[in-house]
Amino acid sequence: ASSVEIRGVNKFYGPFQALKDIDMSIAPGKVTCLIGPSGSGKSTLLRCINFLEEYDSGEVRIDGQLIGYEAPGRKMSARKLRAMRRSIGMVFQQFNLWPHMTAIQNVTEGLVRVRGMKKPEAEARAAEALNKVGLGDKMGNHPSRLSGGQQQRVAIARAIAMEPRLMLFDEPTSALDPELVGEVLTVMKTLAAEGMTMVVVTHEMGFAAHVADQVAFMEKGELVGMDIPDRILHQP
Ligand code: ADP
Ligand code: ADP
Repeated sequence: ASSVEIRGVNKFYGPFQALKDIDMSIAPGKVTCLIGPSGSGKSTLLRCINFLEEYDSGEVRIDGQLIGYEAPGRKMSARKLRAMRRSIGMVFQQFNLWPHMTAIQNVTEGLVRVRGMKKPEAEARAAEALNKVGLGDKMGNHPSRLSGGQQQRVAIARAIAMEPRLMLFDEPTSALDPELVGEVLTVMKTLAAEGMTMVVVTHEMGFAAHVADQVAFMEKGELVGMDIPDRILHQP
């Protein structure tokens, strides 16, 4: 499992400062939840970790290695960035599955295209990942024949099939009907228990309280508090 170090990160959208001098340390195998009001910069910070968002100053390091830049201000090649991203899985609010492909094809595709795996090997790996998220009996279904919770579990299977050392989740349950949230959180809890390093933007306070090792509160682009989850439970 990977470590993440965020040091003095600033991010501007034009004149608007979306992240203000963010510092955060995430130890290997730990779960960090980012919480805070809408527009406080949670998603922007999450996306700086895999350089989907280019921060303007500061550093983000994965396992000690700068990501996005080779040195402060000097961007790394697309090829090097791709190589670093191979160990980072990401799950979005919208599931982003290919509608014309079955569940197993959705998971297999990335392994063949991105990893250059042979198809039979990729399919075996994909089946294993789908079993792990409890979808062993739905592998042949197209997304339209899966519930939102099942679709999100396919998206998680697609990410874990790549064997990441770090997983980023951006409001993974926000698009789901309330009764489907639990099945996705349960899968995430299993990953956490297995020692995956995870950073999760979420409004699920129950998950933050019970599963996170640390909870980061964001407000107006600032990290205004870093807490152990226990404290959340005991707030008035
Ligand atoms: P959160 O995830 O906490 O809801 P975001 O990180 O999505 O917040 O956004 C933080 C702030 O940055 C918001 O005020 C948002 O409007 C602004 N923002 C996000 N993306 C962009 C963009 N591409 N261009 C301009 N402003 C943006
Ligand atoms: P709460 O019951 O704390 O208000 P939820 O019922 O929304 O919150 O639970 C959110 C997530 O936290 C779910 O995945 C749930 O299974 C998990 N969870 C709730 N209570 C515990 C607990 N005591 N230990 C571990 N996980 C828990």
